[in-house]
Parts: sequence; structure tokens; C-alpha cells
Amino acid sequence: MAPGDDATRRPILRVRDWDLWSLDASGRRFMLAVELAAVIILVVALTAADPTSTDLARLATLAGLAVVFTESVAYFSRLRHWLGGDRVRADYLSVWTVAAALLVPAGYAGLLTALGSAYVVLRTGRGQGLRPYREVFSATTATLGILAASATYHALGGLAPANEPVRAAATVAAVLTSGVLSLCLLTAGIMLVVRPPTLRSVLPNRDVAAFEIASLIVGALTADVIRHTAWLTPALLILLGVLQRSAMVSVLEVEAGTDDKTGLLTAGAWRRLADRHLARSSHNGEPSSLLLIDLDHFKQVNDTHGHLAGDEALRAVAECLRTDLRGHDAVGRYGGEEFVVLLPGIDRAGALGIALRLTSCIRGLAFGGGMRLTASIGVAIASEAARTLDELIATADVALYAAKASGRDQVRFCDSPTPARG
Ligand code: GH3
Ligand code: MG
Ligand code: MG
Repeated sequence: MAPGDDATRRPILRVRDWDLWSLDASGRRFMLAVELAAVIILVVALTAADPTSTDLARLATLAGLAVVFTESVAYFSRLRHWLGGDRVRADYLSVWTVAAALLVPAGYAGLLTALGSAYVVLRTGRGQGLRPYREVFSATTATLGILAASATYHALGGLAPANEPVRAAATVAAVLTSGVLSLCLLTAGIMLVVRPPTLRSVLPNRDVAAFEIASLIVGALTADVIRHTAWLTPALLILLGVLQRSAMVSVLEVEAGTDDKTGLLTAGAWRRLADRHLARSSHNGEPSSLLLIDLDHFKQVNDTHGHLAGDEALRAVAECLRTDLRGHDAVGRYGGEEFVVLLPGIDRAGALGIALRLTSCIRGLAFGGGMRLTASIGVAIASEAARTLDELIATADVALYAAKASGRDQVRFCDSPTPARG
């Protein structure tokens, strides 16, 4: 891609090109104020700190761990970034910074967070998707979170020797302070800058929240390992490395099996899941149903409203499938405007109800420009006659053809002579 092709790929060094200047004034003011406050607090905390040689040795250990870990997973992180995902930031930086908050003076923990964030951004390629203000603000919220965590830990007597209950309470309070403060600041920044319609859309989803909480907990454990069993520290790297690798592999697998346009499974990923469902249902003696869904006169929809409107329609249909079906149903985009669903444990009557509900959801979709959509659905039930996935698909295809031939916007079974209109 040539530089300048994409607003997110402009050179970072041209300050006047920064997206920061095009932001809403209140969002920009908020972010700059938080960043200025963070710099002042960090400088004050650094000036006030009086580190011992143990503090400095621990800081150096954590910085070393952060560098070794980031370097060893940099390839996976970059891959993840290139794939366009920033939902799971598996850099584990917060493991080392939370440990620092519990081990060294606040200013040094804050400095490690600020420098560590910059380093991770540069090494994982996130710095290339140039909205630098986002990375800077995100690093700022993390730094403030760690400064506050460290202050909380020290204020609550976390360093009190041999007083386990006090240290436990101080650790929990510090970890919570860090997580809650950085989340609140980040959310406020995004709300002011992006102005999304709902607060919910900017809050982390379950996977991201679980990942962040796990990082905070491992950070607290790391502090204890360094404090009491320093010789075990390299084992932490191995443990985290294995966890990170398996997390990334599953993320990449999901990414590879997800259709870009609709977020549903690709045909290949759908087939793998459907095969597993079918084998399990037949082993348990349960029924399964397969729906083949083809949008009606979709070529005409494209010709009349344009391909972009057509794509929007495909996304809306995918949303109908997602909301109307159960989380474990296998739902895929089979081809251009064809979708395929395997419903484990669903018999003929159930499949008819579900298919009718889907046709009615698609019929009820409202778009601009008077665009309307309908769909025809062919249904096949796993039975003696059709047991393998290919047999089921072939049977549903015959049913779909019958639904099209008898007027579209309807559900047909292969052996059902009467059209079941929704
Ligand atoms: P029928 O009712 O017989 O199904 O008529 P149809 O026009 O829908 O026919 P068919 O199923 O063969 O249509 C395929 C059309 O779907 C042709 C193509 O323009 C459109 N299409 C396929 N993939 C995409 C896509 O990703 N985006 C858009 N906008 N259109 C697509
Ligand atoms: Mg088609
Ligand atoms: Mg069609």
C-alpha cells in the first residue's frame, strides 16, 4: 500500500498530519489534560522516590522480563496486528507493571509502564496503524493506573513486614485501583472522542476483560515470586509464553475461520464444526437439521441499490442468523448470498419453526431506499436417507430449489409437497 492511501497509514513524524487535530475539541482537551496530569504526577513521584539497591535490582529484573517476553512473542503480536485485530492485546505488559507497582516506588513503576508501553507499541507493529494519539492515551491511562496502584499499595501498608492479611488486602486494593482507574479514563476518552451510540459498545467484551483480569492476577503473583522465590522467575516466562502462544493460536484459528463481510464462519470452518456436531448427535441418537438459505433475487437488489447496499444487506441477514439461533449452532456463509446452518438436537418440527422465524426476520429487515429482502430456505433432516454432511447439503439443495420454484420467500423440506409459508 502506498503511503497516504489510507488515513491510518500516514507517517508519524509529520505532526501536523496527526489525527489528533481532527478530533472533537472536548475529546482532545480531555486527553491532553489527562496526559499532562500524568507527566506531572510521574515527575513528582520520580523526584520523591528514594529507591534502595533492592528496588533498582527488582526494577531491572522486571524491565528485563518485559523485554525478553515482548521479543519472544513479537512475531505473534505483529501477526495479530496485521490481521486487523486489536481486541486481545496479548503483550502481557501489565503483568510486569503490576508487579512493579507492588515492588518498587510508585515513580519507578510508572516509568516502567510509560517506557514499556512505548516499547511494546514499536515492537508489535501497532505504531504503524497511525493513530498515535490512541496509543499515547492508552499508555497514559495504564501509567496512571499503575501510579495509583502503587500509591494505594504503599498507603495501605503493603510493605509491612510479615503482616500477610494487610499485604493481601493492599494487593487486592492496588490491583483493583489500577484496573478500574485505567478502564474509566480510557472509556471516558473513547466516549468523548469517538462518541459511540452506547457506553456498552466501548466497554471491553468478556474475553478482553478476562484477559486483563488474568494479567493483573499474574502480575500480583509475579511480585510475590520475585520477592520470595526469585530463582523461579524464569519459570514465569515459560508459563506465560505457553499461555500466550495457545491464546494466539486459538485467536488466529477463529480469525482464519471467520468470514470478513458477515463475521459468520467461512465455508471451511463451518464444515469442520458441522461435521463434529453431526457426529456427536448421531452418536447420541439425537436429531439434527440443516438449513440452506439463499436470498431471493439478490442480483436485482445489487443492480437496483448497488453492491455496497447489497453488502449491508448481507451483514443484516447475518445478524438475523446470529440473534435468532443458539450460540452453539453452526452458522456459516456458504457462498455469495447463501448461508448454511446446522442445528444439532433439532428435529423436523423445530427446524420448521426456526426456518420460518428466520424468513420472517429477513423479511422484516428495514433498509434505506426502499430495499426489501426475502429468503428461501431448504431444510434437510439427518436420517437414514441423509446421514453425511454432503448428503444433508444435497438434500437441502433440492428443497431450496423447490422453494425457489414455487415462488420464493418460503421454507421447503425435500420430501414435503406443501410449501410452508411464514
Ligand atoms: P434467486 O432468487 O434465484 O436466488 O436470485 P438471485 O439473484 O439471488 O440469484 P443468485 O442466488 O444466483 O444470486 C447471486 C447474486 O448474489 C449474484 C451476486 O451479484 C450477488 N452476490 C454474491 N456475493 C455477493 C457479495 O458478497 N456482495 C454483494 N453485494 N452481492 C453478492
Ligand atoms: Mg445464490
Ligand atoms: Mg439468491
